[in-house]
Amino acid sequence: MNFDLTPEQAQLRDAVRALGRRYGHDYFVTKAKAGEHTTELWDEAGRLGYLGVNIPTEYGGGGGGITELAIVCEELAAAGCPLLLLVVSPAIAATVIARHGTEEQRKRYLPGFADGSLKVVFAITEPEAGSNFHRLGTVARRDGDDWLISGRKCYISGVDEASYVLVVARTEDATTGRLKPALFVVPTDAPGLTRSKLDMEIVSPENQFLLYLDDVRLPADALVGESLDAGLPALFAGLNPERITVAAMGAGTGRYAIERASEYTATRKVWGGRTIGSHQGVAHPLAHAAVQVELARLMIQKAATLYDAGRDLEAGVSGNMAKYAAGEAAALAVDTAVQVLGGAGMTTEYGVATLLGAVRAGRIAPVSREMILNFVAQHVLGQDKSY
Ligand SMILES: Cc1cc2nc3c(=O)[nH]c(=O)nc-3n(C[C@H](O)[C@H](O)[C@H](O)COP(=O)(O)OP(=O)(O)OC[C@H]3O[C@@H](n4cnc5c(N)ncnc54)[C@H](O)[C@@H]3O)c2cc1C
Repeated sequence: MNFDLTPEQAQLRDAVRALGRRYGHDYFVTKAKAGEHTTELWDEAGRLGYLGVNIPTEYGGGGGGITELAIVCEELAAAGCPLLLLVVSPAIAATVIARHGTEEQRKRYLPGFADGSLKVVFAITEPEAGSNFHRLGTVARRDGDDWLISGRKCYISGVDEASYVLVVARTEDATTGRLKPALFVVPTDAPGLTRSKLDMEIVSPENQFLLYLDDVRLPADALVGESLDAGLPALFAGLNPERITVAAMGAGTGRYAIERASEYTATRKVWGGRTIGSHQGVAHPLAHAAVQVELARLMIQKAATLYDAGRDLEAGVSGNMAKYAAGEAAALAVDTAVQVLGGAGMTTEYGVATLLGAVRAGRIAPVSREMILNFVAQHVLGQDKSY
């Protein structure tokens, strides 16, 4: 058992931390409030190779795994820049294409993921289906060699910044007649694809959208993989990287909040010469949050290690647990930071309340805490499926 990063991973962590700190939370919030994107940070991270750490070297990437990408996600978040697009584009979309795309698709898309010049977002959630993906209603049907896709998706992040959206649809199996999932690479400017921005109570430079697909016509090679049989494994391929990197973002956000709060409570004095941090009523909640964040980080490390070792089933359990733990720890850390900063906690200047919406969303998306508890109850504890 080894809890140390390799020298290369430690170097990556330090370099990403330095980059994140050069931009910082003020930059992130200013962009968000202006309705702008963090393009400069994304582009610089791409040029430095941080967005492509998990892409195979033969396509221009760093040749690392989800461990490396989780380091990037955590360190940018720990610098106050939690970028959700890291989760949808390099973690989900790039993994799906690298593992289940055709060689032609890998050649076409992976170099762009490697240098960050290509952003691909991910659309599975639908208004009617919600957490129950078996009820997906977006359907792809053949029209000659082409595909025609129709349906609706909701809460899709980053569509306005992306060139493509990886859409999960259902297709009819020619032999059984049953609908089965398939993934399609859809250009965000495809005729028939329209979007409307959702107003979210999250301070973030990344936006969520409703997507409407009305007979969107796609060529045959928009289908990810060689055949319809690639659909289900391709969909599952994205889940572990998604859970692990979103957990890493949560852990980084928790670290950021605890650091801001600790700096404040170690110097703020309102009772004579004592700092407020000397009062256990202030220090213990912060210490408790720090313990929860560190525990989540351990589970993230385990999940990423299992995933990179190709142990997908075990990574599924650890990845879900990591996502649960990090989601709860991040929400606790930010809420505690706001509390110990008092009135300053609610100001924009001190940069913690600005994360309340994001960490609250982290307990719902991309998979809710309840659905993770369902998974653990069923697959770890052997309970009957409850839904
Ligand atoms: C900020 C943000 C970004 C997002 N980005 C994306 C994206 O890029 N792409 C994408 O596809 N989706 C995205 N989503 C959607 C997200 O994945 C869903 O919101 C999430 O999966 C929950 O689905 P729902 O909102 O339909 O909730 P519902 O399924 O309606 O559930 C509502 C509540 O009921 C609970 N619940 C439902 N079923 C059960 C059950 N069987 N047992 C116990 N509790 C249950 C849920 O846990 C939840 O608390 C995003 C959401 C947010 C908030």
